[in-house]
Amino acid sequence: MSEFDYDLFVIGGGSGGVRAARVAAGETGARVALAEESRYGGTCVIRGCVPKKLMVFASEFAHMPDAARCYGWDIQDGAFDWKTFRGHLHEELDRLEAVYRKMLKASGVETFDARARLRDPHTVELSTGEVKTAKHILVATGGRPVRPEVPGASCGIVSDDIFDLEDLPKTILIIGGGYIACEFACILNGLGVEVTQYYRGAQILRGFDEEARGLIADAMKESGIDLHTGTNIASMETATGDEDPDEDTAHMSGPIEATRYGKSEPEPGPGVPVRIKGTNGQDRVFDMVLFATGRAPNTEDMGLEEAGVTLGRRGAIEVDEYSQTSVPSIYAIGDVTDRLNLTPVAIREGMQFVETVFKGNPTPVDHDLVPSAIFTQPEFGTIGLTEEEARDIEPIEVYSTSFRPMNTAFAGRPDRVMMKLIVSKETRKVLGCHIVAPGAGEMIQLAGIAVKMGATKEDFDRTVAVHPTMAEEMVTMRQPARSG
Ligand SMILES: Cc1cc2nc3c(=O)[nH]c(=O)nc-3n(C[C@H](O)[C@H](O)[C@H](O)COP(=O)(O)OP(=O)(O)OC[C@H]3O[C@@H](n4cnc5c(N)ncnc54)[C@H](O)[C@@H]3O)c2cc1C
Repeated sequence: MSEFDYDLFVIGGGSGGVRAARVAAGETGARVALAEESRYGGTCVIRGCVPKKLMVFASEFAHMPDAARCYGWDIQDGAFDWKTFRGHLHEELDRLEAVYRKMLKASGVETFDARARLRDPHTVELSTGEVKTAKHILVATGGRPVRPEVPGASCGIVSDDIFDLEDLPKTILIIGGGYIACEFACILNGLGVEVTQYYRGAQILRGFDEEARGLIADAMKESGIDLHTGTNIASMETATGDEDPDEDTAHMSGPIEATRYGKSEPEPGPGVPVRIKGTNGQDRVFDMVLFATGRAPNTEDMGLEEAGVTLGRRGAIEVDEYSQTSVPSIYAIGDVTDRLNLTPVAIREGMQFVETVFKGNPTPVDHDLVPSAIFTQPEFGTIGLTEEEARDIEPIEVYSTSFRPMNTAFAGRPDRVMMKLIVSKETRKVLGCHIVAPGAGEMIQLAGIAVKMGATKEDFDRTVAVHPTMAEEMVTMRQPARSG
């Protein structure tokens, strides 16, 4: 009889936690429990990748009638109905959450619908009052969106709130220049919302390839997004009906009516117009302000430091290459460690944890050459070094092409795509691949295999093109655009 209730207690039922629990229980026969305080599936399934991607799909229909007419279809413009979409969206999220619960049960994982915190290196206290012990504890509590310290910031919403909005706003100000800010700018613009975006830096999508960033920013502006770089919000407050004679927001329901017609001070939150002052001197009223200004690891009030777990930058749990914390029995994976905050990475970290601890095969997590996509319009797929990073490391050749793709050029749209390879002059290896194009996420998944395998530019060249496609340009770029 073991001295512990379980071999493994997982805190957090998101991407990383669910995968680790399922694999440990299902494949190694470990006795596993998992606590989830909110909904199974976590950020990705409930308030991140999945609902966001469904919103991307919804927004992409905006151009379809125009394009279809160019292709000879007799088609009328339609209108987007948020409530219809939101209903289907939530049905789908409910279905997915049920699948997650079912998978855990089928693997033999005992689940607790409760918040968990550590009492000591082997003990977990649940919000139900139960106390459980485990040989190993895995913290997979993810992260949460944070508002900046701006006067009146509580008037704004965060990405978690978008999927539950009662109505879509007519106008929105999005603060931030990261991928979440840019994706929602494109989504909402496609759904007919008038989008203004402020970003304090010189260019959106900091850290990504500069040429790609420029192309995406230009395309976003071209599509109607009022993007202001070098601009931040100085202050904000709920707007009263007296202050804003503009009737633009009168279509919205709820507290806004109290604001406009009852003249009482509205409760801040979704549905209440917001007056902002920008650092660019703008003084404007928006139906809504969305903060996409960063995320913080969920480590507060978890008993982590009391149990001896070291926290690092911004409260993230510090771990070694095997995801082990400063306390040998406690491991941490996913966004709570703030390494590479992507769903497939959290899942991979969970699997490597099980491999290391329950399968006796110590396996460090490989964070090198991870492909990823940003679902802006146009989409961006990327892997490896940016041109700027590579140039700082070694002499390179840059193969780059930008063109109007056949599909949308035929329909008279100005869209441009870009394909770019960063090649080491010495080894000829492709060090980075960056694609701005419709379907770039799908393309980079496959190109990523070649790059991860260490393919050279000549390997790309030896591969025969698939014609007519956009991606054929990846294997037909003959002359470097730049080198040095
Ligand atoms: C808007 C948005 C879009 C995104 N888009 C993408 C994308 O396109 N592609 C991509 O790869 N990644 C994307 N991400 C990132 C991705 O969602 C995360 O990297 C991923 O979900 C991290 O998984 P995790 O297991 O670490 O944490 P999470 O999925 O956040 O799960 C943590 C879980 O722990 C629970 N929890 C927290 N504290 C406790 C506690 N004390 N007790 C019990 N339970 C607790 C939470 O309720 C949550 O369910 C997106 C994120 C956001 C916000």
